[in-house]
Amino acid sequence: MSKYVYYFGEGHAEGNAKMKDILGGKGAGLAEMTNIGVPVPPGFTISTEVCTYFYAHGQSYPPELKQQASENLAHVEKSVGKKLGNPKMPLLVSVRSGARASMPGMMDTILNLGLNDETVKGLAKSANDERFAFDSYRRFIQMYSDVVLHIEREKFEHELFALRDRLGAKSDAQIPAKNLRELLDTYKKIVRDGTGNDFPQDVQEQLWGAIGAVFLSWNNQRAITYRKLNGIPDDWGTAVNVQSMVFGNMGDDCATGVAFTRNPSTGERRFFGEYLPNAQGEDVVAGIRTPLPISKAQAVGDEKSLEGTMPKVYAQLEDVYRRLESHYRDMQDIEFTIEAGKLYLLQTRTGKRTGFAAVKIACDMVDEKLIESREAIGRVEANQIIQLLAPVFDAKEKDKALTGGRLLARGLPAGPGAAAGRIAFNAERAVDMAKDGPVILVRMETSPEDIAGMHKAAGIVTTRGGLTSHAAVVARGMGRSCVVGAGTLRVDYSRGELRAEGHEPLEEGDWISIDGTTGEVINGQLATRPSEVIQVLIEQTMKPEQSETFRNFDRLLKWADDIRPLGIRTNADTPQDARVGRLFGARGIGLCRTEHMFFAEERILRVREMILARNEAGRRQALDQLLPFQKDDFAGIFRELAGMPVTIRLLDPPLHEFLPQTEGQISTLARDMGWGFVELRAKVNQLHEVNPMLGHRGCRLGITYPEIYEMQVRAIFQAACDVKQDGVDVQPEVMIPLVGTVRELQLTADMVRRVAGEVIQERGVKIPVIVGTMIEIPRAVLIADKLAEIAEFFSFGTNDLTQMTFGYSRDDAGSFLPEYVDKKILPKDPFESLDQEGVGQLVRVGTERGRSANDKLKVGVCGEHGGDPDSIRFFRSCNLNYVSCSPYRVPVARLAAAQAELEQQHYEG
Ligand code: PEP
Ligand code: MG
Repeated sequence: MSKYVYYFGEGHAEGNAKMKDILGGKGAGLAEMTNIGVPVPPGFTISTEVCTYFYAHGQSYPPELKQQASENLAHVEKSVGKKLGNPKMPLLVSVRSGARASMPGMMDTILNLGLNDETVKGLAKSANDERFAFDSYRRFIQMYSDVVLHIEREKFEHELFALRDRLGAKSDAQIPAKNLRELLDTYKKIVRDGTGNDFPQDVQEQLWGAIGAVFLSWNNQRAITYRKLNGIPDDWGTAVNVQSMVFGNMGDDCATGVAFTRNPSTGERRFFGEYLPNAQGEDVVAGIRTPLPISKAQAVGDEKSLEGTMPKVYAQLEDVYRRLESHYRDMQDIEFTIEAGKLYLLQTRTGKRTGFAAVKIACDMVDEKLIESREAIGRVEANQIIQLLAPVFDAKEKDKALTGGRLLARGLPAGPGAAAGRIAFNAERAVDMAKDGPVILVRMETSPEDIAGMHKAAGIVTTRGGLTSHAAVVARGMGRSCVVGAGTLRVDYSRGELRAEGHEPLEEGDWISIDGTTGEVINGQLATRPSEVIQVLIEQTMKPEQSETFRNFDRLLKWADDIRPLGIRTNADTPQDARVGRLFGARGIGLCRTEHMFFAEERILRVREMILARNEAGRRQALDQLLPFQKDDFAGIFRELAGMPVTIRLLDPPLHEFLPQTEGQISTLARDMGWGFVELRAKVNQLHEVNPMLGHRGCRLGITYPEIYEMQVRAIFQAACDVKQDGVDVQPEVMIPLVGTVRELQLTADMVRRVAGEVIQERGVKIPVIVGTMIEIPRAVLIADKLAEIAEFFSFGTNDLTQMTFGYSRDDAGSFLPEYVDKKILPKDPFESLDQEGVGQLVRVGTERGRSANDKLKVGVCGEHGGDPDSIRFFRSCNLNYVSCSPYRVPVARLAAAQAELEQQHYEG
């Protein structure tokens, strides 16, 4: 019989931390905590396999499930000495979702389940608190009605707020029992009006209604969007955790809170968290009340910390956090409840953190000997390291703004980094406005419905909520700069205004700047300055000793370099880019697109003269004038990369791309070249192609106008000789683009070797002549063995290869690809992340065929995919020699390549 339900309680659990796939993150965490002796209320987890079954079988359960659940429920009842539905000693349970990967707040949860008109009396008696019992029942009806019966929450909230107003109560806690009892009647009437039935009194019906709703919430819109943004597969499913309730809202010796074992924003090693006295867990996460700090160190002014008000429990909590961190050897994010002075842990999971925190925590944990450097590499998501390169505000500008009275408010620093943008007051507007420039989403609080807007925004501000509120958690996950709990700001949605004392009201579209590292919200648009890493590494205006962030960045990437066999090169067309790529750690250039050099001001006229020349002699004349420019560029790059391989690609794009487009431009050019307007326009039209990407480009140009390629090869080798003569080693590699037949490669490679040989002979300098081809046409893959007999290297141009394999124009596919991804026709945009199933096969087959004919063949990738972590993992599995990506992606590629290596080693055992 299949096992679908797993028990945890009394120091022993059937599951453990390794069983996330079937217990979900929450279930696995509860099991593991129970096993290591952390106080956890008993309960059971219904596995993710049930969710899969549920969707595969018309939303029904495996036949064994009910029996298994009821046995486990009986076990829980025995453990706590209460029974579900028992009027005297009622057991109350929570029913919560929990997927393999954390999806904060995206799915549904129900608390206080088991209450009905009878058990509420029992609860009042056993807790000796009628008010508390009625309040719990009220919360349960509201939550259950929202999640299971689909009655809008606002209907209930409206009644609650009206009652509060009538009584002049500042908080729910001030509403007397008698009024709560009346409110319950109103709530039940709302249910009756909304569904035609009474609120369910049968506790089994309640339980299975809640379990079903949690499974269904796996496919609600916000969960789907969250999965899409975070690359979580739709078929993983959620587990359901049914756990006996403990109450943080039974009086002043009760509380509930969330904490991180280290600061999730900065990575600082300090226990860090928030709590609310006399409250239920959802109150903290929802960000509706701004919580208090847990430690004295964290408290500002006369804030009452948990450490100050409940020192004994706080000490216990510290002990638990140390145990959890040394057990998991990673930063944990925990939820706890204190019921009548007794501490319970309700959740532990690996804490989400910013890129800054991830790098610092990884390095600190190596220093603390908690993890090894190999392990540290896996602790930072490769894409996250980009955050360390993002700009910060210019310190002087910011000072000027602050002293000049432009500070609007100070909130909590929830997501580091500087952002300036125009105000949007809701997610929809943020998405819209982001098309025209950066947006700051300003909300009282955010909820899971807002994620699409948060994703598009450059920064997020909320006026309520703490560092563990929805806004903070999600922003950190997305790497957005974020300020939460800026409590002195007033957002008026109906007027579309943001008010700060002493300032004119701001409206949608007004500029504000936020510093998510310090929590400041500033009026107007502040200029930014490069990050510390850039200042140390690229601008060299700061010393490594002055920046811990840089030092950690550098250490981590050096550990990564020690592990990866996959080489990292950069795509660079100018000496400046080459320098940046090298300083970021690239060890060679994988693609120098020579055409980009043609657009510079002094050159474009020569290029145009070359293209438009009436005959070969005219073309050669123009080319002779271009040669010195090309030579200088190449020499600059060779010097930058001293001794490292530099792959230079011969001209690739269709010639008409260099020509003037508008009549005005044609007329100016006609004047510069001394041509008649009509004649020039006719020539331009003649060069126009209907389908230029599949037209006269790449080596086809070199075959029809050999003098262009000859000039380029001459410039490459003359530059190489010059640099070599200055005592700097050079390693040019000449790459031929868009090869589809053997003869194309043969003719062009012969020309390259001939011209290179001539220059080398003339100059008497020894330079290796290495010739290779791009593989970007499917046909080239099929004949890769024959090409490899001529080429010394292959470089997969996965941009064109994707375009030609799918038959999607890389310039036009944006009009339908998003819909394709939405409709699951494609898992991702194949121009961003390699289509491993199709295009990937071509990379694998091309490499194998090539190497079968030439075992020395060097193989790399120079399409955009060379900087994408998932694609890099795949390229490693194809045993490529290197990937090449844009300079700013080099750190990502270094880290991703090392992670790919560790995974592969793990996989191969
Ligand atoms: C490619 O096609 O992947 C490539 C690198 O060349 P380009 O993007 O210049 O066409
Ligand atoms: Mg290409």
